[in-house]
Amino acid sequence: MINLSTQLASQTISKNAIADLLYYLGRDRWEENYNRHQLTIEAWAVGIWVREIGIISYKDLAEFMRNSTKLRASGLQVERRSPSLFLVEGSQQSRYAVIRQNGHYTCECMLYRCRHNRLRKELPQLFEALNKKIFCHHTVAAYLSLQTPT
Ligand SMILES: [Zn+2]
Repeated sequence: MINLSTQLASQTISKNAIADLLYYLGRDRWEENYNRHQLTIEAWAVGIWVREIGIISYKDLAEFMRNSTKLRASGLQVERRSPSLFLVEGSQQSRYAVIRQNGHYTCECMLYRCRHNRLRKELPQLFEALNKKIFCHHTVAAYLSLQTPT
């Protein structure tokens, strides 16, 4: 078992996040016997282990993270302040600053900072599965705003 910090664990393998992932994967038979609060979840070297279901690969988790982030980003307002500065609508605070540098986007929010500071070190398997790319829904919203002609 890999010991994750509470911060990374609560953002990545919480019962809610993993229950959503299981729906996404169509692995929802467990629902007949359990609810999401009863799931026992641990990070292992080979994947996420859920006692009630089995192993979920980091590849599947990475795909789910990418897709759900894209979905969440698509509804956000983006204001471009300069070629490299974007203000993106948020929930914890009204706007988050996203900086674009050499085609790479960084954000000031907790989620981004947690992933940036912890993922590579604490869960390198997932970091690899994400192609070593750190993102949040704000950075994806900023990126998407440049893809859509206005
Ligand atoms: Zn962010």
